[in-house]
Amino acid sequence: MIKLHDKFFKPYLKEEQILKAIEKMAAEIAKDYKDETPLFVGVLNGAFMFVADFLKAYQHPCEVSFVRLSSYQGLTSTGIVETLLDVPEEIEGKSVIILEDVVDTGRTLKQLVHLFSQTNAKEFKIATLFYKSDMYNGEYAIDYVGLEIPNNFIVGYGLDYKEQGRNLREVYQLNQADMINLVLFGKPGAGKGTQAEFLKEKYNLKHISTGDVFRYNIKNGTELGKLAKSYIDKGDLVPDEVTIDMLKDEVEQNPDAAGFIFDGFPRTDAQAEALDNFLESKDMKINATIALEADDDVLVARLLERGKSSGRSDDQDESKIRNRFDEYNQKTAPLKAYYEKQGKFHSINGTGEINEVTERLCAIIDKL
Ligand code: AMP
Repeated sequence: MIKLHDKFFKPYLKEEQILKAIEKMAAEIAKDYKDETPLFVGVLNGAFMFVADFLKAYQHPCEVSFVRLSSYQGLTSTGIVETLLDVPEEIEGKSVIILEDVVDTGRTLKQLVHLFSQTNAKEFKIATLFYKSDMYNGEYAIDYVGLEIPNNFIVGYGLDYKEQGRNLREVYQLNQADMINLVLFGKPGAGKGTQAEFLKEKYNLKHISTGDVFRYNIKNGTELGKLAKSYIDKGDLVPDEVTIDMLKDEVEQNPDAAGFIFDGFPRTDAQAEALDNFLESKDMKINATIALEADDDVLVARLLERGKSSGRSDDQDESKIRNRFDEYNQKTAPLKAYYEKQGKFHSINGTGEINEVTERLCAIIDKL
């Protein structure tokens, strides 16, 4: 196990495995290009080590160049990627083969295709050493792949965690064993969101509220938002397939999180099973589920009060609120048994001062 900054990583791919994959790629590319002089373009910074070893394995006429793209932090959801080192000049009539260290969402790839489509290269191919097929949006064909890997956070062999780890000869993956993943249960108004705000600070966790993600999408007029709105406005649950896919995306977008607080998810049996399977595929698990208990009448009063300032239409009408409680009783409450069977269910009194409720939650989390 190695430590970079605040996180531990465990060995994942040995140097021999990586070099073998590179030799296989070099042989495949040589089969297609050994009779011409292709231009290999490495994508900095991550691909520098791959490019070096690839070229040692590719002993035929070729040229080499690099591009460098930088995605602005905080703006990644808009997909804005800035070019720091541009397309090589002498490109006319050449076969260009991009050498990428890893393809995951495909966002960088989109920018590369955009950059090279404006040139008069003869053709344009993509080769990637690592390929996270689960995450890739599939927009462009990937022509040569070294190793297909699951969507775990990896470092080493050119890849970094906050700029460290690029010099490692082997590839390591984030150790998930010390992660804390919590599910907060409770009817609407039970205080899940309020408590999650405290817990995420105290335990350095990423808070995912499916209700918040839906509202964000509604506000921004996305397709997902339009679809969800009709259900949310009535106080009904949004269909499982939609919600599960959305939740997975949220987790995928935070590959280096120290853990997650799931707030408002899972709400049905199907969601709970999907969450378990999804986490297992990523070497993760739920550590505890905690329900915040309060009487319906207390909750109705809280929600109507919140509705005055939040503007949420589902908080302003008692019949919609009662419908949300019914949805909870019918579909979410049975999950108690699901998590009890796994020995992971806890419940606490959710009434009283906010800090008292936080203390009750921490008492459980600190024992995990
Ligand atoms: P919340 O903010 O958690 O009260 O969620 C508001 C609304 O979003 C709910 O009444 C549902 O319509 C929808 N929603 C949030 N999370 C889920 C989920 N896990 N499954 C289905 N619908 C959800």
